[in-house]
Amino acid sequence: MMRRFSTPLVLFVCLFLLAPHPGAQTPFRILVTNDDGIRAPGIVAVAQALTALGEVTVVAPSENQSAKGHALAIADPVYADKVQFPGGLTAFSLTATPATCVKLALGALLPQKPDLVVSGINRDQNLGMVAYISGTVAGAREAALQGIPAIAVSLLLGRTGELDYGPAAHYTLQIATAVKERGLEPGTFLNVNVPAGPAEAIKGIRVTTQSALAGTETFIEHARPPMGRRYFWNTYDGPHGGAEGDDVWAVYQGYVAVTPLRVGEFDRKTYEAWKGILK
Ligand code: MN
Repeated sequence: MMRRFSTPLVLFVCLFLLAPHPGAQTPFRILVTNDDGIRAPGIVAVAQALTALGEVTVVAPSENQSAKGHALAIADPVYADKVQFPGGLTAFSLTATPATCVKLALGALLPQKPDLVVSGINRDQNLGMVAYISGTVAGAREAALQGIPAIAVSLLLGRTGELDYGPAAHYTLQIATAVKERGLEPGTFLNVNVPAGPAEAIKGIRVTTQSALAGTETFIEHARPPMGRRYFWNTYDGPHGGAEGDDVWAVYQGYVAVTPLRVGEFDRKTYEAWKGILK
């Protein structure tokens, strides 16, 4: 014998199925990128740490793209390969810069926009004005330009050059958790620099100003140029010293420096001064 369902019961079941389920919340989605390339140890450490906070997807350059700043791939094809990543995370390797990785992830690869973009953990500092050169910072800036909260993370090189990304990954998780809870002003992002050395040596976190220092570049010319062409090698030393309260000062005092940055370089003072001069 056939059972008949009453109309109110069918309606109730349909409404229940359509209603948002308290137990099935949408995950907090995190996009992770970097500029050292998808095989760098820093991105593995941070991607795995962030799984404690949400659903992590990795979209990163196939090769090292350090110091490429906000460069974009515009005249070359971008190959996107799905790759194996530690922890079984979804990961794409792109033949592109970090800024293009974020653009392409947001515009074409990801089924949904992420709630947070984390770029790093970079091998070596991105302090002060170095933020302009950094591909790591550009990955976060690109997200901020698109209205998504973002964090760039860099770990200073110690004396030995051997890096333990564990403490930096731990602090990134702490900072990312705060961003998840509080959000960030649209158009802003955080530039994080972590001191070298073991976790015990790190004194904690300081929110800092951005140093005006950019480091020192020395171009050394090779004495016997091959085939008669002069050539130079850039040797670089990052910013040191700084002023109390800024990012350079903080990391060399042993603190994790968290510097809020804003996209846009418009200067109102110069605008006011010059709008009467040039017309
Ligand atoms: Mn790098």
